[in-house]
Amino acid sequence: MKKILICFFFLAGFSCFAQIERVEPPNWWTGFKDTGLQLMVYGNNIGNATPSIDYPGVSVENVEKADSPNYLFIDLAIGEAQAGTFDITFAMEDGSKQVYEYELKEREKPASAYVGFDNTDAIYLITPDRFANGDKSNDSFDYLNEKTIDRSDAYARHGGDIRGIIDHLDYIEEMGFTAIWPSPLLINDMESGSYHGYAMTDFYKVDPRFGTLKEYKELSDKAADRGIKLIMDQVANHSGVEHWWMDDLPFDNWINFQEKFENGEDLVYSNHRRTTNQDLYASKTDKKGMTEGWFVATMPDLNQENPFLAQYLIQNSIWWIETLGLGGIRQDTYPYPDKAFMSDWAGAIMKEYPNFNIVGEEWSLNPLLIRYWQDGVDNAYDSNLKSTMDFAMQDKIVTGLKAEETWGTGLVEIYEGLANDFAYADPENIMIFPDNHDKSRIYTQLGEDVAKTKMTIAYMAVLPRIFQMYYGTEILMDDSENPGDHGLIRTEFPGGWEDSQVNAFTGKGLSEKKSEMQEFVKKVMNYRKDSQALHAGETKHFAPQDGTYLITRKKGKEVVVLILNKNQEAVTLDLERFSELNLKGKTFKNLISEKSFQWGSSLELPEEGVYFFTTKME
Ligand code: CA
Repeated sequence: MKKILICFFFLAGFSCFAQIERVEPPNWWTGFKDTGLQLMVYGNNIGNATPSIDYPGVSVENVEKADSPNYLFIDLAIGEAQAGTFDITFAMEDGSKQVYEYELKEREKPASAYVGFDNTDAIYLITPDRFANGDKSNDSFDYLNEKTIDRSDAYARHGGDIRGIIDHLDYIEEMGFTAIWPSPLLINDMESGSYHGYAMTDFYKVDPRFGTLKEYKELSDKAADRGIKLIMDQVANHSGVEHWWMDDLPFDNWINFQEKFENGEDLVYSNHRRTTNQDLYASKTDKKGMTEGWFVATMPDLNQENPFLAQYLIQNSIWWIETLGLGGIRQDTYPYPDKAFMSDWAGAIMKEYPNFNIVGEEWSLNPLLIRYWQDGVDNAYDSNLKSTMDFAMQDKIVTGLKAEETWGTGLVEIYEGLANDFAYADPENIMIFPDNHDKSRIYTQLGEDVAKTKMTIAYMAVLPRIFQMYYGTEILMDDSENPGDHGLIRTEFPGGWEDSQVNAFTGKGLSEKKSEMQEFVKKVMNYRKDSQALHAGETKHFAPQDGTYLITRKKGKEVVVLILNKNQEAVTLDLERFSELNLKGKTFKNLISEKSFQWGSSLELPEEGVYFFTTKME
């Protein structure tokens, strides 16, 4: 974008009262279904200007002042306009004029080519500050509030960046992942804790410590060259308290509890009673307390009921999809913003990009809530959201693996958990994960039990679900020293820093146990990548018995049989119980040991663990 400020000279001398500091979105495109565009203009006293545009196909439909004199909202209609640049001329009250050059770009590819992640994908979730430092020159900047890196502090910046991800795309591809979800890469110019990324201070700017917009685009392009989708982590609920607009908010209701914030009064925090979104009997007080309260003191709660903010956020998401060629969005804290807005937001995106996908974060162990947010369910709320997160099933799997095997506990909890799928509009579009950036590492959750960690990953990988895993789980990264500690969960990936003693990218110095786990994940993910049975197969499972649980996926000639065995001693599995699968005589290969066997009447399971059998793929 090129910004041109022209001040006109008058008899009395030079008049340049208004400085246009920002026009957002910084550019737009031709050819969207929605031909409206609302520009937010920011500059000293710009609210008193009268804008005009002389460009074929573009017209000014409406101009709105804000509560602050330094904002102007301009509604444009972009009909049959050609791509190109045009001048927006602002006539000021004093007769002076300012001209701002704005660009309408041509879209690079058709809307249908923006294909979102789906259940054929395995997503690698990355905390960019902690994955790899590919560019030491961007580690810190004097002009930012948090000035230094400190790798000895788990809550300080460590220097990881976009370049570090680009540098290791080969590793991610070889591991069998088909999508990456880096936690937010936009600027968090906060005093502290900026590494996590969820306190944005400019929704249009990449954090320079992560890199540049050009590098973000390079990441997307280079990932796409390998068939890897880029998912952007976005936050509509809140910004960082250091957001540039916090000193001069456009409207009196731009954020919730704005008056309290501006008067320095005690803030009101969210009551976190997320069920008020569904509860037929919820009081107004509780509903308000949930959606309007602030998440934390450093993250002002945005008021999406303000239509200008709502439009701002929708256009911001579309701008990023179009700019980066995204393969999906992960939306943070989904139940916290105004839910009518979230429906509009997701709807607007899906209208422009029919093949796109968005996953919303609802941290709930209650399948009814996971169901509620997913599009296609017959309830009073039309969410437009294709994908939700399966915290419920994640919990069942961990609980079931850890529990003693009894009639009602152990593997049966997993089996019965999966039975909840009947309630979902689209279970295959729900995202399952062993762990994420906010949860203990799966290895820690399971008491550092390698066999159970493998069971979890393999089981999740064969479920009719989108699969997501947190970076480093493939090498048994843990937070066992202080389970649940966020800084510890987000530990540096070994090999991502020049002085790393161990390099998990090359395997140098990696313990045998960790290497073996890495190989295991690699095999499972790479199999999953091309498996029709796992992408589109029929699912069937049998009630667990005597500490074993069998689940199959089948498509055409391809059959996957996964057996979880919790017995420490060797057991013999009676295969006659599974005769309805018609597998007798079929040759199977153990994906991990690569040994073949013929399905007969019984099967020896020599030890505790996961047995991943596949027929040959045709
Ligand atoms: Ca760096």
